[in-house]
Amino acid sequence: MANGPAVAKAVTDQDEFNPFLSMAKLFDRAADLLGLDAGLREVLRRPDRELTVSLPTVMDDGSTKVFTGYRVQHNFLRGPCKGGIRFAPDVNLDEVRALAAWMTWKCSVVDIPFGGGKGGVICDPRELSQGELERITRRYTAAIMDILGPDRDVPAPDMNTNEQTMAWIMDTYSMHVRKTTTAVVTGKPISIGGSRGRREATGRGVMLSAREAMKKLGRRPEDTRVVVQGSGNVGGIGALLLHREGYKIISISDMYGTLLNENGLDMPQVLDHLTQNRRLEGYPEATYMNSKEQLELDCDLLVPAATENQITSANADRIKAKLIVEGANGPTTAAAQEILDERGVVVVPDILANAGGVTVSYFEWVQDRMGYFWTEEIVNTRLEQVMVKAFADVDATAEQHGVSLRTAAYILAIDRVASVHRMRGVFA
Ligand code: GLU
Repeated sequence: MANGPAVAKAVTDQDEFNPFLSMAKLFDRAADLLGLDAGLREVLRRPDRELTVSLPTVMDDGSTKVFTGYRVQHNFLRGPCKGGIRFAPDVNLDEVRALAAWMTWKCSVVDIPFGGGKGGVICDPRELSQGELERITRRYTAAIMDILGPDRDVPAPDMNTNEQTMAWIMDTYSMHVRKTTTAVVTGKPISIGGSRGRREATGRGVMLSAREAMKKLGRRPEDTRVVVQGSGNVGGIGALLLHREGYKIISISDMYGTLLNENGLDMPQVLDHLTQNRRLEGYPEATYMNSKEQLELDCDLLVPAATENQITSANADRIKAKLIVEGANGPTTAAAQEILDERGVVVVPDILANAGGVTVSYFEWVQDRMGYFWTEEIVNTRLEQVMVKAFADVDATAEQHGVSLRTAAYILAIDRVASVHRMRGVFA
């Protein structure tokens, strides 16, 4: 189990796989096109605050282990920091920094009043009991408590965290401040201030982004073969919603392997199988294979919805899809994006395509603060309005500057944050 000291993985400047360097490269390109001055660039490039905490935890066998946690607040110019917390054995500071910055740009692209933050705890949830996970989560919350709060920083689920994790965070925070404070986290169970539609929101946003891109390209779902990498909250639900819209999902994967059926998978059945067996393997109506070349399968739409650095300079020229909609954060490296651009592949970037989750997190935070809860229909209608407008804004920026949707999304996001910086000025 990885629970060593808080040391970011050693990286070099050339490291294509360092997400923070990838983010910085994309940021710089957009900043150049915007003609952003050097001082402002410096302000927006670096995280505002980084906290590393040690988390002593009593394990089920009575021993004590010390885990390492991070919370990075990239920027709060547009509002409280917002962003998930992930639990994984290989979480590192540069990754959390990149993810925090992506949250700033994401919230700006969809124009919700938040800045960006992200958290991580180095641990392997597969090796931990519920009790151990609860104790780690509560200790982590107490350790970062001083910088949290509905008006400061509002976490949410991310990889390997879920509604239960958010309930523990909400409870721990509330016990410290002596009042139930539901708006301190989003992605909570509905019974304790969660929003209807939040669980499906990221997948729904992916489906809506695909729909807008397809309209632009003049394509029809019925003629579109889709490959989805990942079958969790984003990939699984995204694939299900795309299937309902008439797309043919020919392949989906989990962390163990890939299903392939050229005639199209019955997504409700696949997800039932996954719920019952906790893995895709054994699903009868498909070939089960190793995931190595899944992204290179012959398809029209590719949805990477697992993790970072999946489309790289090593495989970008073998990707067959003409449209990529990024469900994950940072699935395409900056170097791979250049190759895709040259090949004319349209990429709906993460900070637009997966922004449905944080958008409904915003709705959840608003509902918690009002103490008045919306129907699922209202949530979904408002989500659709936000996603359609964000797509149109990014598309118009791309036309205006003659750049890819990714560069356009950065230009739009950075420009909005920069204009707030100019209005607010520098506190001294
Ligand atoms: N973890 C999700 C993301 O990367 C959701 C963040 C949130 O809802 O605050 O966008």
